[in-house]
Amino acid sequence: MPVQLDDTDIAIINSLMQDGRKSFRAISREIKVSTPTVKARYERLVNIGLIKSVRPEIDFSKIDTRSRKQFTPADAQALKKKQFHKTEDLRIKMQCDFCGGPISSKPKVLKFANIERFFCCTSCRNNYKEKYGGRIQSIVEQYREEQKAKSSRRP
Ligand SMILES: [Zn+2]
Repeated sequence: MPVQLDDTDIAIINSLMQDGRKSFRAISREIKVSTPTVKARYERLVNIGLIKSVRPEIDFSKIDTRSRKQFTPADAQALKKKQFHKTEDLRIKMQCDFCGGPISSKPKVLKFANIERFFCCTSCRNNYKEKYGGRIQSIVEQYREEQKAKSSRRP
């Protein structure tokens, strides 16, 4: 017997098609259906074979193809076909999350909750921390609450 999709199924599919990395919790908030329902519906959509996979969408323009000694013709060929070729030296172009300039040396990283931000220098990192301190704090607190809720739900 064919399975009939309802509005919830369709809302979940549309939400995941925008961004397949979303958590069930995020989808639940977005479409106003409980997290266990989202999870159950998602699993059913997988089980009936409608959702075959959730794939990353790669921004190939981020790959730095200039002046790479080990960037081989095979790598270039693969990228043209939007695939990755195994390589020793595949670099991603990075922009400073504070000043927007290119990051040419090792990025200065700021980690909070499950987020990482990348900077060209320590002063950009410090300025970012200063400017967004309140926002960072609330993200960290929300993340902690979510982690707590997750671990307490485990049997
Ligand atoms: Zn910067």
